[in-house]
Amino acid sequence: MTHELGLPDCFVCGKHREESLMPGGPVWNDDLVVVSHLSPRAPGGSDAVYLGHLLVEPRRHAPGLADLTDAEAQRVGQWCAHAARRLREVAGAEHVYAAVIGDNVPHLHVHLLPRYPGTPRDYWWDRVDEWPDAPRGGEQEAVALVRRLNSATP
Ligand SMILES: [Zn+2]
Repeated sequence: MTHELGLPDCFVCGKHREESLMPGGPVWNDDLVVVSHLSPRAPGGSDAVYLGHLLVEPRRHAPGLADLTDAEAQRVGQWCAHAARRLREVAGAEHVYAAVIGDNVPHLHVHLLPRYPGTPRDYWWDRVDEWPDAPRGGEQEAVALVRRLNSATP
Protein backbone atom coordinates (compact mmCIF):
# COMPACT_ATOMS: atom_id res chain seq x y z
CA MET A 1 0.00 0.00 0.00
CA THR A 2 2.95 2.35 -0.32
CA HIS A 3 4.08 4.01 -3.52
CA GLU A 4 7.25 6.03 -3.87
CA LEU A 5 6.02 8.10 -6.79
CA GLY A 6 2.52 8.72 -5.58
CA LEU A 7 -0.84 7.48 -6.76
CA PRO A 8 -2.39 9.20 -9.77
CA ASP A 9 -5.84 9.26 -8.19
CA CYS A 10 -4.76 10.45 -4.75
CA PHE A 11 -5.59 14.07 -3.97
CA VAL A 12 -2.66 14.42 -1.56
CA CYS A 13 -0.11 12.91 -3.97
CA GLY A 14 -1.50 15.20 -6.68
CA LYS A 15 -1.20 18.23 -4.42
CA HIS A 16 2.45 17.42 -3.72
CA ARG A 17 3.10 17.33 -7.49
CA GLU A 18 1.04 20.42 -8.25
CA GLU A 19 1.78 23.08 -5.67
CA SER A 20 -0.91 25.43 -6.97
CA LEU A 21 -3.33 23.22 -5.04
CA MET A 22 -1.75 24.57 -1.85
CA PRO A 23 -2.55 28.20 -1.06
CA GLY A 24 0.81 29.96 -1.21
CA GLY A 25 2.63 26.68 -1.92
CA PRO A 26 3.97 24.52 0.89
CA VAL A 27 4.14 26.30 4.23
CA TRP A 28 7.19 24.14 4.95
CA ASN A 29 8.55 20.97 3.41
CA ASP A 30 11.56 18.72 3.44
CA ASP A 31 12.52 15.42 1.84
CA LEU A 32 9.90 13.46 3.80
CA VAL A 33 7.07 15.81 4.74
CA VAL A 34 4.94 18.59 3.26
CA VAL A 35 2.97 21.07 5.38
CA SER A 36 0.24 23.06 3.64
CA HIS A 37 -2.78 25.21 4.40
CA LEU A 38 -6.23 23.83 3.67
CA SER A 39 -7.26 24.87 0.18
CA PRO A 40 -10.73 26.09 -0.74
CA ARG A 41 -10.36 23.62 -3.63
CA ALA A 42 -9.69 20.57 -1.42
CA PRO A 43 -12.31 17.80 -1.27
CA GLY A 44 -15.04 19.08 0.98
CA GLY A 45 -13.53 22.55 0.90
CA SER A 46 -15.58 25.71 0.91
CA ASP A 47 -15.11 29.23 -0.41
CA ALA A 48 -14.14 30.39 3.04
CA VAL A 49 -11.79 28.01 4.84
CA TYR A 50 -10.89 28.19 8.50
CA LEU A 51 -7.68 30.18 8.61
CA GLY A 52 -4.78 28.30 10.14
CA HIS A 53 -6.12 24.84 9.27
CA LEU A 54 -2.86 23.14 8.32
CA LEU A 55 -2.16 19.65 7.01
CA VAL A 56 1.02 17.72 7.78
CA GLU A 57 1.58 14.92 5.24
CA PRO A 58 4.31 12.43 4.39
CA ARG A 59 5.44 12.79 0.78
CA ARG A 60 5.14 9.03 0.37
CA HIS A 61 1.64 7.61 -0.10
CA ALA A 62 1.31 6.16 3.40
CA PRO A 63 -2.36 5.64 4.28
CA GLY A 64 -2.20 6.04 8.04
CA LEU A 65 -0.03 6.52 11.09
CA ALA A 66 0.71 2.79 11.25
CA ASP A 67 2.22 2.93 7.75
CA LEU A 68 4.89 5.53 8.52
CA THR A 69 8.55 4.61 8.71
CA ASP A 70 10.27 5.66 11.92
CA ALA A 71 12.00 8.48 10.05
CA GLU A 72 8.71 9.75 8.62
CA ALA A 73 6.99 9.50 12.01
CA GLN A 74 9.75 11.51 13.63
CA ARG A 75 9.58 14.19 10.96
CA VAL A 76 5.77 14.36 11.02
CA GLY A 77 5.94 14.91 14.77
CA GLN A 78 8.59 17.60 14.46
CA TRP A 79 6.63 19.49 11.81
CA CYS A 80 3.44 19.26 13.87
CA ALA A 81 5.27 20.83 16.79
CA HIS A 82 6.88 23.52 14.64
CA ALA A 83 3.59 24.36 12.94
CA ALA A 84 1.79 24.56 16.28
CA ARG A 85 4.41 26.96 17.63
CA ARG A 86 4.07 29.18 14.57
CA LEU A 87 0.27 29.13 14.79
CA ARG A 88 0.64 30.34 18.36
CA GLU A 89 3.31 32.97 17.64
CA VAL A 90 2.03 34.27 14.31
CA ALA A 91 -1.70 33.61 14.23
CA GLY A 92 -2.35 34.05 17.95
CA ALA A 93 -3.72 30.55 18.53
CA GLU A 94 -4.29 29.81 22.22
CA HIS A 95 -4.30 26.06 21.52
CA VAL A 96 -3.71 23.76 18.54
CA TYR A 97 -5.72 20.58 17.98
CA ALA A 98 -4.33 17.65 15.96
CA ALA A 99 -6.40 14.95 14.31
CA VAL A 100 -6.02 12.06 11.90
CA ILE A 101 -9.29 11.16 10.23
CA GLY A 102 -8.66 9.85 6.71
CA ASP A 103 -12.11 8.49 6.02
CA ASN A 104 -12.14 10.04 2.55
CA VAL A 105 -8.54 10.47 1.41
CA PRO A 106 -6.34 7.47 2.28
CA HIS A 107 -3.03 9.37 2.37
CA LEU A 108 -2.07 10.38 5.87
CA HIS A 109 -2.78 14.03 6.62
CA VAL A 110 -2.61 15.28 10.17
CA HIS A 111 -5.07 18.13 10.58
CA LEU A 112 -3.82 20.96 12.78
CA LEU A 113 -6.58 23.31 13.89
CA PRO A 114 -5.81 26.41 15.91
CA ARG A 115 -8.26 27.53 18.54
CA TYR A 116 -8.44 31.29 18.63
CA PRO A 117 -8.97 33.32 21.79
CA GLY A 118 -12.63 33.93 22.47
CA THR A 119 -13.84 30.68 20.92
CA PRO A 120 -16.89 29.71 23.01
CA ARG A 121 -16.54 26.44 24.88
CA ASP A 122 -19.38 24.93 22.83
CA TYR A 123 -17.12 25.10 19.77
CA TRP A 124 -13.96 23.60 21.28
CA TRP A 125 -12.32 20.60 19.58
CA ASP A 126 -14.10 19.18 16.55
CA ARG A 127 -16.45 22.12 16.08
CA VAL A 128 -13.74 24.76 16.41
CA ASP A 129 -14.02 25.69 12.72
CA GLU A 130 -17.80 26.07 12.97
CA TRP A 131 -17.69 29.08 15.28
CA PRO A 132 -19.45 31.81 13.28
CA ASP A 133 -16.94 34.45 14.38
CA ALA A 134 -13.89 32.33 13.55
CA PRO A 135 -11.38 33.80 11.10
CA ARG A 136 -12.11 32.48 7.63
CA GLY A 137 -10.94 33.40 4.18
CA GLY A 138 -10.55 32.39 0.59
CA GLU A 139 -7.40 31.66 -1.35
CA GLN A 140 -5.95 35.17 -0.86
CA GLU A 141 -6.37 35.24 2.90
CA ALA A 142 -4.90 31.74 3.21
CA VAL A 143 -1.90 32.76 1.09
CA ALA A 144 -1.37 35.83 3.27
CA LEU A 145 -1.34 33.70 6.42
CA VAL A 146 1.03 31.17 4.83
CA ARG A 147 3.45 34.00 4.01
CA ARG A 148 3.38 35.12 7.63
CA LEU A 149 3.75 31.60 9.00
CA ASN A 150 6.84 30.76 6.97
CA SER A 151 8.51 34.15 7.11
CA ALA A 152 11.59 34.49 9.26
CA THR A 153 9.98 36.92 11.65
CA PRO A 154 7.15 36.09 14.07
ZN1 LIG B 1 -1.21 9.74 -1.91
